[in-house]
Amino acid sequence: MVARCVRDDTRGMTETDGFHLVVDALRLNDVETIYGVVGIPITDLARLAQASGIRYIGFRHESAAGHAAAAAGFLTHKPGVLLTVSGPGFLNGMVALANATVNCFPMVHIGGSSDRALVDLQRGDYEELDQLAAAKPYAKAALRINRAQDIGRGIARALRIAASGRPGGVYLDIPAAVLAQTLDTADAGLWKINDPAPEQFPAAASVAAALDLLAAAQRPLIVLGKGAAYARADDSIRALVEATGIPFLPMSMAKGLLPDGHPQSVAAARSLALKSADVVLLVGARLNWLLAHGAAPQWSPDAQFIQVDIDPGEFDSNQPTAVPLAGDIGSVVGALVEGLNDHPVRCPRVWRAQLADRTRVNDAAMADRCSADAVPMQFHTALGAIREVLAGYPQAYVVNEGANTLDVGRNVLPMSVPRHRLDCGTWGVMGVGLGYAIAAAVESGQPVVAIEGDSAFGFSGMEIETICRYRLPVTVVILNNGGVYRGDDVDPTGAAPAPTVLDARAHHEYLIRAFGGAGYHVSTPADLKAALTESMSSGQPALIDCELDIHAGTESGHLTDLNPKGLPR
Ligand code: ADP
Repeated sequence: MVARCVRDDTRGMTETDGFHLVVDALRLNDVETIYGVVGIPITDLARLAQASGIRYIGFRHESAAGHAAAAAGFLTHKPGVLLTVSGPGFLNGMVALANATVNCFPMVHIGGSSDRALVDLQRGDYEELDQLAAAKPYAKAALRINRAQDIGRGIARALRIAASGRPGGVYLDIPAAVLAQTLDTADAGLWKINDPAPEQFPAAASVAAALDLLAAAQRPLIVLGKGAAYARADDSIRALVEATGIPFLPMSMAKGLLPDGHPQSVAAARSLALKSADVVLLVGARLNWLLAHGAAPQWSPDAQFIQVDIDPGEFDSNQPTAVPLAGDIGSVVGALVEGLNDHPVRCPRVWRAQLADRTRVNDAAMADRCSADAVPMQFHTALGAIREVLAGYPQAYVVNEGANTLDVGRNVLPMSVPRHRLDCGTWGVMGVGLGYAIAAAVESGQPVVAIEGDSAFGFSGMEIETICRYRLPVTVVILNNGGVYRGDDVDPTGAAPAPTVLDARAHHEYLIRAFGGAGYHVSTPADLKAALTESMSSGQPALIDCELDIHAGTESGHLTDLNPKGLPR
């Protein structure tokens, strides 16, 4: 316990307050880091947390701080904690809370709030907002602590809900008056949650049914999603893949769970694998838009899906689930591996060979595009150069956001270590990049490369100062083609920049120099390699502005089909 308790001899009690109790409850539950932006009424909470030994990382905007907390949740398997002020600061954190929930990342957003008596009668308090009601639609749960004696219970419930079952974002409202409330420590009632995400075993009959269906398949496929990465069942997943010989396809944040260079990876033969697979084992991956909802023409109309998920409500969401395997991935995959003794599965050789052939052809085409020494640089040129340098840093974390920057980056950059890639995820959200990068550096101490489109960078660019203030080993690489998607559109009236146009000749490197970081401006792959090599070996904050061809890229990246077009103007 760190609470500085005051002995009040006149009343014969030991007094503490809400601020101290929140810090004590977080520490008791092993919270080591808080991400946030201070102000009324939580400034002293951040101060006390820091004084108690909790690491406090102060951001410039709550959205980026929230994205950092969400990424910390994914990377550490423990809820990341965001701290915000009331009203607008709270709302700034909402995108991050919603994004964490959609992505199934455990996170607790603690929001200081205004005077309940004034807010509830809409009497016009400072930063007045009914935060609990506002948070509800965007969170796995939204809770409020109304009395200091409930702080222990409130923190325990928030952490438990965030981490257990399908992980997600929990909003915890703490009014200023509760933080300031004093009480006898005897009434504090703090507790540590025990086994935050208990194992959940699947039914034996479902395990047998799944293995029998896989054994009968001619073209089986395993799809690994970020739920599988989060579950930390790396050894059992490898055992299942290798014992069955079934090809696997990693979703983008599951890359590295098994190395991309693994002989059974069919990342480079994705289209063929989806179109041809007859039995698909989904492990912590949803059949959402990222997997074309499991529908033709991307998938075979006859494909049968076996799904492993902790949330049974996920089954049958888009296609019939042939075998639902409800449980946590560690327990389910462990049971599948064990079940192989009685229900052996061996992937047909022809199917593997077919996919291996396609992989070879596609890999060669990709290598050609990446090694072309094009100036002005194309996305493949720049990402190919980055790939060469990162090959020497397998432990580096890769953060990737943008449209073409993301779509091409996902394919070009191989990963060989689990949970080292963070990107726009399920929501396709922009603005996560610098928050994710900061969390990766803070939580791991390893070098981080944030590869950002110039538009994506702008959403959280001011956090470059946060990176410099904490001297984090983060290199931000901006692939600057001068626009949202690309930089060559024109306003037909000639009056103003077109809606998609930014500034292709911007020198973003000056931004980081303002805060003492190293800034580079490059326009050739050779200079990009040199700058990235230097920044990676320095371990210091750096920003590399890469001048790309303004014609490089496609509108909406790989999502052109989702972008409706109006009649010609
Ligand atoms: P991707 O975008 O990589 O395809 P998704 O976010 O769509 O992955 O899917 C992740 C799935 O994993 C979610 O449906 C979630 O319920 C599930 N999940 C998360 N953690 C676990 C776990 N420990 N055990 C089982 N399922 C999990």
